[in-house]
Amino acid sequence: MAIQILLARHAGFCFGVKRAVKIATQSSALHKEVNTLGQIIHNPQVVEDLISKGVKPINNLDECGDNPIIIRSHGVPFETYNKLEQLGNEIIDATCPFVLRAQDKVAKADKMGYQVYIYGDADHPEVLSLNSFAINKPAIVFSTPNELKGKPVSRSAVISQTTKDLAGFKAVVCRMVEDCPELLVFNTICTATAIRQRHTVELAQEVDLMLIIGGKNSSNTKMLAKLSSEHAETYHIETADEMKKEWFAKKEKIGISAGASTPDNIIVAIYNRIIDWFGGLTKAVNVADIPVH
Ligand code: SF4
Repeated sequence: MAIQILLARHAGFCFGVKRAVKIATQSSALHKEVNTLGQIIHNPQVVEDLISKGVKPINNLDECGDNPIIIRSHGVPFETYNKLEQLGNEIIDATCPFVLRAQDKVAKADKMGYQVYIYGDADHPEVLSLNSFAINKPAIVFSTPNELKGKPVSRSAVISQTTKDLAGFKAVVCRMVEDCPELLVFNTICTATAIRQRHTVELAQEVDLMLIIGGKNSSNTKMLAKLSSEHAETYHIETADEMKKEWFAKKEKIGISAGASTPDNIIVAIYNRIIDWFGGLTKAVNVADIPVH
């Protein structure tokens, strides 16, 4: 059986993650040890690789000693910036510029007296960071359009976690606009996320099986897996070792997509493992060697 494998047109590392990993790698060359508050990105394999270079995640500021602190692409709460300044540690800010923009929108809307609503997952680090910029009045956070209960406050502003789905955000805005005489809408969904979602769905509609590659703790990867599973048999995996040969029985067309925190080498390893099993195609050296949908 000839197998065909196609990679979604936009898959893997996004601009913000690529930038954060580059900053972390460069910092590791300059310092014996640097710390990140939480894991730098939601990908265990990349985190392990960085640990081996001296970039170590910590859970709270008590653990950092005198080491420089890298702020990861999700950003940190406003209070954390203040604490770091008090402690005097060097701050290496790798917050994604799109997250900085969302933080700025929250701060401005809050300052102007609007009640801020955040479409996002309440315990996600990015959402914790965004919420902290609503200094006058805490934001109202909800993760699905159905969780939005009752009428919104008459002067409201709504934004989204950068990695949420556009369809859900549109549903939220449609619901709020019915009852809210003054509504500010900031579409803070990152284009990298929206593009990955669109291309994943388009690919899933055409294949027999989809592999979604990325950290099990990665929101944007989980969202890709969810969207893909609405159209094709889908497996969310972190590495090639999780694949089972029997998944591919009677499957001819395989699609691959990957979350924004998935490095190219993992995508290549998975593509090559399928070729090891079924042959018929030339192995890839780089991700650019994989046929794109
Ligand atoms: S998904 Fe978008 S917002 Fe998040 S790090 Fe990547 S580029 Fe930045």
